[in-house]
Amino acid sequence: MSSSQFEHSHAPSDEAKHGTHVGGCLCGQTRYNTKQDPLWVTICYCRFCQQATGSDRMIEPIYDRAPFVFVGQAPKVFELTSQGSGKAVQVHFCAQCGTKLALTFERWPDRIGLYSGTLDDPAALVVTPETAKHIFTSEARPGTILPAEFKTFDRHASENDGSPIEPKIFDMPFALNG
Ligand SMILES: [Zn+2]
Ligand SMILES: [Zn+2]
Repeated sequence: MSSSQFEHSHAPSDEAKHGTHVGGCLCGQTRYNTKQDPLWVTICYCRFCQQATGSDRMIEPIYDRAPFVFVGQAPKVFELTSQGSGKAVQVHFCAQCGTKLALTFERWPDRIGLYSGTLDDPAALVVTPETAKHIFTSEARPGTILPAEFKTFDRHASENDGSPIEPKIFDMPFALNG
């Protein structure tokens, strides 16, 4: 799949060539450039993420919002209210092919979360116990295996007021609900 039309009109910097800094949709019409490394990676098993991905989890690198830019055709935005926080969440998706690219949040206006499969090089995403956490394990599919050493949370990693919640960390890979 070619994205050359965008590369020609927006000369990529060295930074922008980095596989976790750039990505786009299936048809190539909507692309993005994060201009930075992710702050951290959230792996979420909640029902919202299941529906929003059409799969069993969302692997979501979180970036600073300000330097992030969409390139090419602007995405369409679907907004809904989070049942947990009562705050709005926006899903950004390609109007032509329907690929979902990003989430933005009323609750965290200075952040943007990406659908990691849209990165040009998703394998370059660093997912380690230092960079990533697993959340909403209480809503995960039966048999989901949580890796050892990672911080895991039954639901959110922090309270609505921002205070942290104690994680569960397993010594061995742990299968949820047998
Ligand atoms: Zn598209
Ligand atoms: Zn979720």
